[in-house]
Amino acid sequence: MAVLDVLRMGHPLLRQRARKVSDSEIHSPEMKKLIEDMVDTMHAHDGVGLAAPQVGASIRMAIIELDPENDRYTYGGETRLGVYFNPEIEVLDETPQSFWEGCLSVPGLRGRVTRPRQVRVHYTNLEGERCVLEAEDFLATVFQHEFDHLDGVLYVDRLEDTHQLTYLDEFHQFWLGDEADVEV
Ligand code: ZN
Repeated sequence: MAVLDVLRMGHPLLRQRARKVSDSEIHSPEMKKLIEDMVDTMHAHDGVGLAAPQVGASIRMAIIELDPENDRYTYGGETRLGVYFNPEIEVLDETPQSFWEGCLSVPGLRGRVTRPRQVRVHYTNLEGERCVLEAEDFLATVFQHEFDHLDGVLYVDRLEDTHQLTYLDEFHQFWLGDEADVEV
């Protein structure tokens, strides 16, 4: 087990478009180790997701793990760790929705970001199979945030109103309502 360093905003690698992962790489021991270390890293920081570029691997892969205690983050009641290779997002419902977002690469801040309400995700799983899933509401935001990392995009790029960018203490003091506070 290893907790990796998480790159912070300002590191050029976070701004690169990550490359695709090949089928042989998916099954490699190096990939297995990277995923295990990313899970350890995500848990160490209490995140719900982590993209490979955040730990310095510029490849199109991200992990997302949702809290079984919180209905907002489960996949229809079922909770699991998801590993997503070469994901592509298709917007199913463009209705804008906004949530507070945090990011392990932008520590100490929260910002309110507007994104489409419902998406379909096409991706390759750990077995190398092409899969599809649909996500709406907050889960749709989590996928969009995570996969933005693979294109070198951070949530702060998507802020429409910088008045809704806040440090964590002030977030808890002035802004946090009944929403959960998560970092991805
Ligand atoms: Zn992030």
